[in-house]
Amino acid sequence: MKQIYFTPGPSELYFTVAQHIKRALQEQIPSISHRSRAYIEIHTHTVEGLRKLLSIPENYYVAFTPSATEIWERILQSLVERESYHFVNGAFSKRFYEIAKELGKKPSLHESKAGSIPSVQEKIIPASAELISVTQNETSTGVSFPEESISLIKKQYPHTILAVDYVSSIPAVPFDLRNVDTAYFSVQKCFGLPAGLGVWIYNNACIQKAEALASKNISLGSYHTLLKLHEYGQKMQTPSTPNVLNIYLLGKVVEDMLQKGLQNIQRETAYKSALLYNFFDKNKQFTPFVKDVSLMSRTVIVINTKDRTEKLLHYLKTKNMIVGNGYGEFKNKHIRIANFPAISQESVHLLIDEINNFTTNENTL
Ligand SMILES: *Cc1c(COP(=O)(O)O)cnc(C)c1O
Repeated sequence: MKQIYFTPGPSELYFTVAQHIKRALQEQIPSISHRSRAYIEIHTHTVEGLRKLLSIPENYYVAFTPSATEIWERILQSLVERESYHFVNGAFSKRFYEIAKELGKKPSLHESKAGSIPSVQEKIIPASAELISVTQNETSTGVSFPEESISLIKKQYPHTILAVDYVSSIPAVPFDLRNVDTAYFSVQKCFGLPAGLGVWIYNNACIQKAEALASKNISLGSYHTLLKLHEYGQKMQTPSTPNVLNIYLLGKVVEDMLQKGLQNIQRETAYKSALLYNFFDKNKQFTPFVKDVSLMSRTVIVINTKDRTEKLLHYLKTKNMIVGNGYGEFKNKHIRIANFPAISQESVHLLIDEINNFTTNENTL
């Protein structure tokens, strides 16, 4: 029996992916050389599609890596000499901060209580910080950083590189890349693709910073520095053999999303998240973890289960629905429902019906 994956990564594949994989195998895409004309055409097609879909500004570029986790390390090695600043509002933003420490940088942070984010009305970031990190959508707790706050940070610190993690939200919620210097995501979340491909978007300010570090003989690392990725990116290639199949699939899914229209994708995401939140608002037993409506993620819906996560997930599995458990300390206290573009409205209705069934008949199930 086919399962529906509401898990926040890897997650349900986008509707068209199976058909694109079949086609890719027929065309023997996984065997082509990454230095061939055929590859350069695939790379170009995917980058151009992303430029259109995400409205990537002129002086911004796109690089491919094996994961978003790798991009964390690349950002720190290529763009930070000593000090980065991190808004930490959950496990993913915390991990980025920890990597900075592991790499011998001197990061500082603002840590929020789980499920909240700080007010950015006042300037709180030290002038010595070379990079500010924001996680737009905290996949661990379902708290989202409003786009207005991101743009306010950029206005307050126009000369500090602003790096935004859009891993589990782009392109399903509104965003504006002009507010940021570098942005990144991986494809197994909202693009509904197999894992193993990260997309790194960066502007000229990032290149200049990396060049400045290199000219001071500061090591940018040896594997995939920004400058190497950029040099090969200009030739529509990558320094090492990339995930050609996934770059091809991303180009195809981006084409499908362009045809559907970004606004339609974002509108449907908002609508499906409203169905879910409205249901849980009325549910007496299971309630949304994030309390402030303006901070509730539309793509990762996190719900308090009063320690009944395991029982609920088990029940849903018997109905062929796989939902995420809580992250870290919330393992048995939360469920996490991915509301990505691959999840249809019908699937959301099915899930709501079954959770309703569980809460009304729990004692007899
Ligand atoms: C999943 C996730 C990552 C890590 O992505 P990988 O592709 O597994 O490296 C980073 N940040 C956020 C917010 C995520 O949800």
